[in-house]
Amino acid sequence: MVPPRRQLVERGWVFRSQTALTSDVPAAVTLSWRAAARFLRSPLQPIFDALSAALYPACCALCKQSLLRFSSVPICDSCWSAVTPQTGLLCAHCGEDLGLPQSSLSHLAPNQPHLCDLCQEKPSEFAQAIAYGRYENELRGLIHLLKYDGMTPIARHLGRRLAATVGELPIDPGTRVLVIPVPLYRTKRRQRGFNHAERIASALVSTLRHADRQHTWTMTRGVLRRQKPTESQSRLSPQGRRRNLRGAFAVRDAAAVRGEVVLLVDDIYTTGATASACSRILLRAGAKAVWVATVARTQREGVALWDAGALASAGEPVGS
Ligand SMILES: [Zn+2]
Ligand SMILES: [Zn+2]
Repeated sequence: MVPPRRQLVERGWVFRSQTALTSDVPAAVTLSWRAAARFLRSPLQPIFDALSAALYPACCALCKQSLLRFSSVPICDSCWSAVTPQTGLLCAHCGEDLGLPQSSLSHLAPNQPHLCDLCQEKPSEFAQAIAYGRYENELRGLIHLLKYDGMTPIARHLGRRLAATVGELPIDPGTRVLVIPVPLYRTKRRQRGFNHAERIASALVSTLRHADRQHTWTMTRGVLRRQKPTESQSRLSPQGRRRNLRGAFAVRDAAAVRGEVVLLVDDIYTTGATASACSRILLRAGAKAVWVATVARTQREGVALWDAGALASAGEPVGS
């Protein structure tokens, strides 16, 4: 049974709260208003937005300021504009912030990839992991709204933003790229009603098909499987996270990945344990290369925040 709030969000109609419409307005009025809304939405949207905002003032799900227009996602313009790509000098392999100002680039050896300590010692098997933004503030809030409040239209926005970041990956032009979302275990997926990584990946692929014609982007579902439920990653050490994920993933259809270039998509990169575990299994199944793209990445000071946030918001892990 899909919760009423999720039904609303899935249909793309989000209001001030789950109860606002039903408590303030009789059900019949609500239904007819929604029907009118569907009819009016596209051609007359600007007028309709202003009208609906006046009639049914909604507020931003992140900052609680009033929304000035009707939207499929209740996020204000200023919160959207606060969600920006990461800056700073990042590890060329895993995306860790090296803690150096951009200006220091000129002092580093030219044409040498700049790697963090971990990647210098033992890089993961994936080709490179990149992330759109830091896992903090508004971006962190958006990911929580998507995952724990079922605001699935947010995935479209996040996938579109991630597309620009993926465009920076040095994948050879002309390559066919299989886009594989990190799977959820079946009971988790059933509870949530959807896989957030799949929603993000799907929006990413739709955007890349238009924005990047140098490559062929193919969304694949069901090739990778999470075959065992994993313990909450948030309470585990990096070693514990790796142990927890041992044997967690399996390739269901090796023929589908053999010789292919894969882009693995997830919401958050924390220690890289999930990305590494999935990459290893895909490479073992014969994938030619695995690239990793996540919407957000925790940077050193952000790991504690990630742990606390995950526990406080839902009592379950958000990624690894
Ligand atoms: Zn806001
Ligand atoms: Zn690194």
